[in-house]
Amino acid sequence: MSELETRERLTPGPASSAIQWDYAPSLEATDHFKLESRYDLFIGGKFVAPHSKRWFQTINPATEETLAEVAEGDAEDVDRAVREARRAYEKVWRKTSPSERAKYIFRIARLIQEKARALAVVETMNGGKPIKESRDVDIPLAAAHFFYYAGWADKLEYAFPNRNVAPVGVAGQIIPWNFPLLMAAWKLAPALAAGNTIVLKPAETTPVTSLMLAQIIQEADLPPGVVNIVTGAGATGAALVAHDDVDKIAFTGSTEVGKRIQRAAAGTKKKLTLELGGKAPNIVFEDAPLDQAIEGIINGIYFNQGHVCCAGSRLFVQESILEPVVRKLRDRIGTLRVGNPLDKNTDVGAINSRAQLEKIQELVSSGVEEGAEMYQTSCSLPTRGFWFAPTFFTGVGQSNRIAQEEIFGPVLSVLTFRTPEEALEKANNTPYGLSAGVWTEKGSRILKMAQKLRAGVIWANTYNKFDPTSPFGGFKESGFGREGGVQGLAPYVQLS
Ligand code: NAP
Ligand code: MG
Repeated sequence: MSELETRERLTPGPASSAIQWDYAPSLEATDHFKLESRYDLFIGGKFVAPHSKRWFQTINPATEETLAEVAEGDAEDVDRAVREARRAYEKVWRKTSPSERAKYIFRIARLIQEKARALAVVETMNGGKPIKESRDVDIPLAAAHFFYYAGWADKLEYAFPNRNVAPVGVAGQIIPWNFPLLMAAWKLAPALAAGNTIVLKPAETTPVTSLMLAQIIQEADLPPGVVNIVTGAGATGAALVAHDDVDKIAFTGSTEVGKRIQRAAAGTKKKLTLELGGKAPNIVFEDAPLDQAIEGIINGIYFNQGHVCCAGSRLFVQESILEPVVRKLRDRIGTLRVGNPLDKNTDVGAINSRAQLEKIQELVSSGVEEGAEMYQTSCSLPTRGFWFAPTFFTGVGQSNRIAQEEIFGPVLSVLTFRTPEEALEKANNTPYGLSAGVWTEKGSRILKMAQKLRAGVIWANTYNKFDPTSPFGGFKESGFGREGGVQGLAPYVQLS
């Protein structure tokens, strides 16, 4: 095709002079699996009705249609699950040889791969994220975490040389809605490898893939009670934190709830790790390859609708390149496809819940009120479901709420700097410290910035890349403890 013909087949993008390919819909099928109409709690290797005899509806945030009914676990159910986990720990799992533990974990990994297509579709339908992300990121990474930690199960003495390594006991694990299956994998895989038993509490809005994982765990023949999954809302998580016989709490979620959990666990025997919020700086120097940086910025904030704790939500641009960066950013967001998450071409899917949408809207209004200038794509949004158009702000002040508070949506704040020192000072001016990005051609500058940025993960000339072998976790109010890598085993072992 000639260049002219190619151009004629492009349609103008909505926001600016940007061009956007006009693709035909390409919907992922949903008829290759069947969901249960109702899911019970997974306790002691069986699905059991909740004590409350209450089930809540879990929806597809892109359509507001009900996907399934899910059990509302209460303190009685949590107690039942913890007792099963304790029994399985004392009687079975702590006595299971490390290489046997590894086989079970491998089996779970293989079954996730086998059922990857259904898991990806359900992750998309329950959470709102584009199918290309659940298919290419969430589910493969979840399997990779189980594979990786299966490999550690019989090598713990190499992870902690010259120490005696013992499991901690019963772990209570609480996860959020932005990477439902992946967060379950991050929590379960290292805990199992180290010989612990578990009670897992998925997020209220995204429980379905955790319950599919419960079915996988049954199929893998994991001894009953080693993994228990209790669905419910915040109160269910609070009951797990409050339970006397839980030895360790691992929490991923908001800083606010994390602080509450830290207070509740204070003075108890419980070990604690917290993975909390973030307000990551993504820093672009004037020598950076600009088009590559634009892709990294886009991936950093619009990936998964910005429902990413390590999202690059504060963009720091060196003043000399502000104009081209803003122009390119404006053109590029105009080409993002927002819409049906099941469409393989969709870049930006649905916001996870009405509550999250309202939080994003409120913070965006505060940005306008505080005088920042807003750019938003004028794409047409579906009428049902929860949607927010990709947005960025320029002229943002350091003290503006949109520069300080976590928005957890597809909203970027653009700020400027002149010198590396100024970039560092501004980037570190946040209570959070989860992640950061640096874009520059100079290797020495990357190393210098990485030493001085107060963040647990720093990406150089890339963004939002994950691997089971790399530890992940925060500084400051982004929490403590690491997940992933050999470091991710530490919270699940006692060393002597
Ligand atoms: P959230 O409200 O803190 O919830 C996280 C989990 O905790 C959910 O399962 C939630 O249940 C449960 N929960 C709520 N109140 C609780 C309580 N008092 N005691 C114990 N558990 C409780 O956070 P979210 O709104 O689901 O997720 C968004 C936040 O998570 C963002 O701030 C984001 O930065 C953070 N996050 C951090 C990371 C990380 O790795 N650092 C990863 C992902 C997300 P319900 O769902 O029923 O409320
Ligand atoms: Mg919540």
